Amino acid sequence: MCGIVGYIGNKKATPILLDGLLSLEYRGYDSAGIATIENDVIKVMKDKGRVKNLENLDGIHDLIGTVGIAHTRWATHGKPCRENSHPHMDNSNTFAVVHNGIIENYIELKEFLISKGYTFLSQTDTEVIPNLIHYYYTNGPVSVLKDSLEKFLGSVKSAVNDLKGSYAIEVISPICPNEVIVVRKDSPLVIGKGGGENYIASDIPAILKYTKEFYLLDDNEFAVISKDIVKFYDSSLTEHSKPIKNIEWDSNAADKCGYEDYMLKEIFEQPTAIRETIGSRFRLGEKCSFDDIDISKEYLKSINNIYIVACGTAMHAGLVGKTLIENLCKIPTTVDIASEFRYRDPIIDEHTLCIYISQSGETADTIAALKLAKSKGAKTLAISNVIGSSITREADYTIYTHAGPEIAVASTKAYTSQVALIAILAMYFAEILGSSDEKTILDLKTDMIDLPTKIEKILDNVEPIKEFAQKIYTEKDMFFLGRNMDYNVALEGSLKLKEISYIHSEAYAAGELKHGPIALIENGVTVIGIITNPNLVEKSISNLQEVITRGAKTLVITNQILTNSHFDYVINIPETNPLLSPILSIIPMQLLSYYISKFKGLDVDKPRNLAKSVTVE
Ligand code: GLU
Repeated sequence: MCGIVGYIGNKKATPILLDGLLSLEYRGYDSAGIATIENDVIKVMKDKGRVKNLENLDGIHDLIGTVGIAHTRWATHGKPCRENSHPHMDNSNTFAVVHNGIIENYIELKEFLISKGYTFLSQTDTEVIPNLIHYYYTNGPVSVLKDSLEKFLGSVKSAVNDLKGSYAIEVISPICPNEVIVVRKDSPLVIGKGGGENYIASDIPAILKYTKEFYLLDDNEFAVISKDIVKFYDSSLTEHSKPIKNIEWDSNAADKCGYEDYMLKEIFEQPTAIRETIGSRFRLGEKCSFDDIDISKEYLKSINNIYIVACGTAMHAGLVGKTLIENLCKIPTTVDIASEFRYRDPIIDEHTLCIYISQSGETADTIAALKLAKSKGAKTLAISNVIGSSITREADYTIYTHAGPEIAVASTKAYTSQVALIAILAMYFAEILGSSDEKTILDLKTDMIDLPTKIEKILDNVEPIKEFAQKIYTEKDMFFLGRNMDYNVALEGSLKLKEISYIHSEAYAAGELKHGPIALIENGVTVIGIITNPNLVEKSISNLQEVITRGAKTLVITNQILTNSHFDYVINIPETNPLLSPILSIIPMQLLSYYISKFKGLDVDKPRNLAKSVTVE
């Protein structure tokens, strides 16, 4: 996920592009770059780091081109460095491209292009795009066309036809110096209409100060943008018209793409984040694979046990991971809090695999815990959202969640994508080891692919959750109960509530209730129950019945049909494999905490005493 800006008009493009990038930095900030066309030559300036770095590059303000594209990157393929920054060009410097998203089949496309004599300067997936466009421009069916714009558009279309994955792409070329071509699939792109000039952006805020009139590009739709006119084409390049939309956001709403807070925006980004996490890592009928790691059967067979070590929300993702790994791979797995693990002399040797989870990749305790395991001879695997972060530089293996930047302190999309990624890792291990039967893995993959749509379903119906939040936001204590996976997710639900609503809450394994905590249940106390495992419905209902008898008010989040129960509120969520249920059941809890915090008038994105990335021990 990154920020894209584009401009075509009579003004110098660079100041407009830089300004747009600055307002999009929250979407990605590990490198930035721009390309303009001047005297029939593409000029590219780019560098590692934030947009400020780019702004300070020698000569950047001398660029006089009035057509340009720009990008602020959140690396998914290749570390943040100048070579990997966008824009990328083809070998002949005829096409410059910026891209938001992931090209899942870039390896096979790269191999094809290499076989045709193309060379590559970066490790990105993106660089195949300008070279493919060049390939089709010179070799494809369009190469015989005379009209250069038609030929340009045809070659972009042919290139895009070959891409699997998600993309929002801007392309410029001196062949048609008065046009920018754009296309998108599963990644946002808007065109802002000006008078005698037009703007392009991945997000409205980047160009809102220039125009309030927008075309919202659809999936698989192309646009050819010149300064006076925007033409739209469907996937077979048939031209069509498109209505314009007036956007009346104030600047605060604009930064958050119309959402009131980053947290809400990030909750709603979860379907996309899960799609990106799955990416090309598996398809039905094919085995799981990771671009970045290749683990041998011999090594996995030599492992006696696995530790998953993390802090906070990431540790809760690890708890789900434990069940997934034990269930699918039959390897004993222990979850530990990083700050505890490192001081308790854990039993580790070369037959231990240690998995570390950190959204930022900078969590001090997690990094220290990783170094400890390495010093004892264990192999280490990092799960992070930030390419090139400290933890990824220390670990033997790294896999990335690809959830896009998370700004709100309370983690939402990072959690669900961590869980999704560990599920893929567990399937990957299980396929190498042959520890689960094929049908189990196939069913799990099918359910994983359906997750984004199921999350969308939950997000389509937030009103009952908001209503319940309004009823309980003044309370002082709450309890979360569940069994197995539902207990793991209860811990995360309870943490979310504490973090942003400052309400004291506890999560318990439902069966543990009568061993002590039930003494705290009194008239009017709110208990949130999670029931998603068909085998544990009766037992979970009985535990909730025990609190109802003592006067508790109950909200139940379930994917089961609950008969003869006396809950005050029931939130129904779609059914899925019990091993994946936390990815769905956490969503109502995230929303509940969010709305409680809003009703209390608190700062949702920056809760007191908390920081996003905990770099102190
Ligand atoms: N996959 C591309 C890269 O790694 C684009 C990432 C982004 O959306 O910023 O460069």
